[in-house]
Amino acid sequence: MTTTSEAAPSGEPIRVIVIGAGLGGCACALALKHHGHSVTMYERLRGFKRLGDSLGLGENALKLLERWGGRDLYDSLTAIGNQAENMQIRRWNDGKILAQQPLMDMAGYIGHRGDYHDTFLRAVRDAGIELNVGCEVIAFDEDKPSITLADGREIFADLIVGADGIKSKTRELVLGFTDAPKSSGYSCYRAYFPGEYLKGDDNRLYSEFVDHGDCVNIWIGEDTHLIQNTLRGGKEFNWIITRKLSHEADMEIKESWFQDGNMDDVRKLIGNLDPRIAAAIDKTPYLLDWKICYRDPLPSWVSKSHKIALLGDSCHPHLPTSAQGASQATESAAVLAVCLKLAGKENIPLATRTYEKLRFPRTRMSQRNGEDLRDRWHNALKNLDEGTEIDPESVMMRNRWLYAFDAEQDTVQRWNEVSTGVAEELKDGHITPLCD
Ligand SMILES: Cc1cc2nc3c(=O)[nH]c(=O)nc-3n(C[C@H](O)[C@H](O)[C@H](O)COP(=O)(O)OP(=O)(O)OC[C@H]3O[C@@H](n4cnc5c(N)ncnc54)[C@H](O)[C@@H]3O)c2cc1C
Repeated sequence: MTTTSEAAPSGEPIRVIVIGAGLGGCACALALKHHGHSVTMYERLRGFKRLGDSLGLGENALKLLERWGGRDLYDSLTAIGNQAENMQIRRWNDGKILAQQPLMDMAGYIGHRGDYHDTFLRAVRDAGIELNVGCEVIAFDEDKPSITLADGREIFADLIVGADGIKSKTRELVLGFTDAPKSSGYSCYRAYFPGEYLKGDDNRLYSEFVDHGDCVNIWIGEDTHLIQNTLRGGKEFNWIITRKLSHEADMEIKESWFQDGNMDDVRKLIGNLDPRIAAAIDKTPYLLDWKICYRDPLPSWVSKSHKIALLGDSCHPHLPTSAQGASQATESAAVLAVCLKLAGKENIPLATRTYEKLRFPRTRMSQRNGEDLRDRWHNALKNLDEGTEIDPESVMMRNRWLYAFDAEQDTVQRWNEVSTGVAEELKDGHITPLCD
């Protein structure tokens, strides 16, 4: 079998600019560097805080990160994640266990996004990759190609990657219009706080969820679910309630990771929740109200010149129930880096167009997985006759199929087949859209 390291037509390194130093941008820089390309990153922010809350990193991403950053990186990342063996899926109102499955079937390692981000940034530094912070990209020239920074500097490369997140400016250039978010019809309240806020459980209501090390439990109800995640042996506690929105006004879209939530609203939602976990949630010191936005799949991830490509949330954002946003961004990084290596510096359009064709179907399946799970959870208890038992299988997460995949190996194996079709399209000058 051909491996990715054998597959390279070695030549001059390809110079790549990566816009954005989120998890996707960092993974992209690591993959590019690993495969012999020359990479420079530009990030709008001057520094990074411990933002967000829980995020899943699956084995499909971890195996790639280990290859690029070594066993130390792998060990640091897995140490961040929840160490529980199993998770329980419970009934909303009384916490009865409906199903139990290994945590690794779910999100892989669920840890704090900020801790993962910090570790990705350290790996970028250790790899000697140039990361320029405080550099906002405000314009592009897709033919040169080049970026222009807010301070007026224009910087050139062979390829530009827009890993600039859900509100991507690069996406506007690629699409030729502003892609406004739609309401998904769902919203989350999310909180992540030190376990010490949970002291004083005099009635020992929630001790089983906070005093016995890491654990993950999920309560499912009608049109709602709650994920509880106890991390670092109980030093940190996280919950996320996802609910279907019923009022037009609720669906007003503010696509933000920083909007404060109101505990009084949460208390109304948890009035009929298993009282043990409701008592823990009641102690929450601060929370976010996060409207889950949805974007239609994009017909193209690559600019008309074929020299600017999107990666991560800018082109394939995921629902929280997919638990794959960062992992799929990492896979995309691998595929793009290998495509560039296989195509060589003279054939960047072949690389970018093959990249999008290889990636699109898999990211769609992974996105849909999240929608399917949410719908199964939200509907499981509807119209159940008294005494009817739920089939545990019907409420389990079905992510395991995602983890065995090796994005680099798959790219090498399918390169000839897919790139041959792409070469024809480039010759004809007609690129088939990724979707209608
Ligand atoms: C604040 C925040 C909190 C999050 N919390 C969670 C969470 O709790 N759980 C979860 O599963 N997912 C969370 N996510 C999403 C998750 O991080 C992503 O799904 C995943 O990591 C892939 O992201 P990305 O790198 O494609 O985009 P992002 O992580 O959004 O990174 C994009 C980067 O690009 C930079 N950028 C944007 N525009 C420009 C520009 N014009 N010039 C230069 N730089 C630019 C941004 O500052 C940012 O650093 C969060 C994202 C953010 C931004």
